[in-house]
Amino acid sequence: MDSSQSSLSPSVEMLRKLIAFPTVSRDSNLALIHFVRDTLKPYDADIRLTHDDEKRKANLFATLGPRGEPGIVLSGHTDVVPVEGQAWDTDPFVMVEKGGKLYGRGTCDMKGFVACVLALVPEVMKRGLKSPLHLAFSYDEEVGCIGVGRLISDLQRAGIKPKSCIVGEPTEMRSVVAHKGKKAWRCRVRGHEAHSSLTPQGVNAVQIACDIVSFIADRARAFRSGHRQDPAYDVPFTTPHVGVIRGGTALNIVPRDCMFEFEIRHLPFDDPDAFFADVERYAQSLLPAMRAVAPDTHIEFDLLSTLPGFDDDGRNAIADIGRACSGAHGTHKVSFGSEAALFNNASMPAIICGPGHIEQAHQPNEWVSLEQLAGCEAFMERLAQHLCVA
Ligand SMILES: [Zn+2]
Repeated sequence: MDSSQSSLSPSVEMLRKLIAFPTVSRDSNLALIHFVRDTLKPYDADIRLTHDDEKRKANLFATLGPRGEPGIVLSGHTDVVPVEGQAWDTDPFVMVEKGGKLYGRGTCDMKGFVACVLALVPEVMKRGLKSPLHLAFSYDEEVGCIGVGRLISDLQRAGIKPKSCIVGEPTEMRSVVAHKGKKAWRCRVRGHEAHSSLTPQGVNAVQIACDIVSFIADRARAFRSGHRQDPAYDVPFTTPHVGVIRGGTALNIVPRDCMFEFEIRHLPFDDPDAFFADVERYAQSLLPAMRAVAPDTHIEFDLLSTLPGFDDDGRNAIADIGRACSGAHGTHKVSFGSEAALFNNASMPAIICGPGHIEQAHQPNEWVSLEQLAGCEAFMERLAQHLCVA
């Protein structure tokens, strides 16, 4: 940033520092974590780091203010998605302001929130906290919410029991009280090779895979037109989806192998395992015809990932606080997964509320608007009123 933009708020200044750490998930985040630790040092924070196996990455959990009672957790992930293959107009790791927007990898997802949290700390310490305030900054969120599990286990082992959690994923500062769950699989079809002039002597793995993909598409249409929907979600129904398919080697060979990957993002009342059982049953029904041609043909499935959803319809104290601090009405739910479900399932009722829109996340020229950051600062100010003596 150049010197003509010197009157920026503390959170914008903090965001500029955070963006300069290139914390792509595959790389170390320790420089950023140590910077945060040093930033919190003057405020008498209890700080716990939990590392990955190689000690290249860490979560940071900090407690500020009076100890001993449960407090609220403000949570964000420190990792960002890669920039390779994306057409950026500026250096992704140097924050640039233009036209009321701050550009840089992680501005939206989700260092903007982390910056606002860190900018809040001097303010609440000056005003005096009535109860503890916890900060939780994780690694490896973008590769499947892996890091935060260690942070939560460490809290459980240490007997630290915060009462609730605000996760700052981008929601345009709407207080979100639920998100869908997600489960993903790989399907591997083994067919039987033959010259393409002799198709009846082969088992076409690409064709079999496409039959299963079509079955998944039928199930997707059934969810979309079904009655079991929740209009509070941005996408109000469960969505199965096929994202990758690979098969075959040449047009004149009946393909032996094909694999595809699929997922389901499900509402809490739809069972992902029931969906998978339907897919598996359909796949089984194709086997007799395949084996009549070649007995060694098969269809196999691998589970790739599971991320729980969470939804208690906003009937808890943190949802009330979220509504009060965001000033927004209504009940909002989203389709993307986050660490909120993991906090929620560990007896820390959670909401999601952060600056920016999820559409800007993971994109080239990722940005967050100054207006959204100001909205987050206003949220933090109202939260400070709730948390502080003065
Ligand atoms: Zn995120």
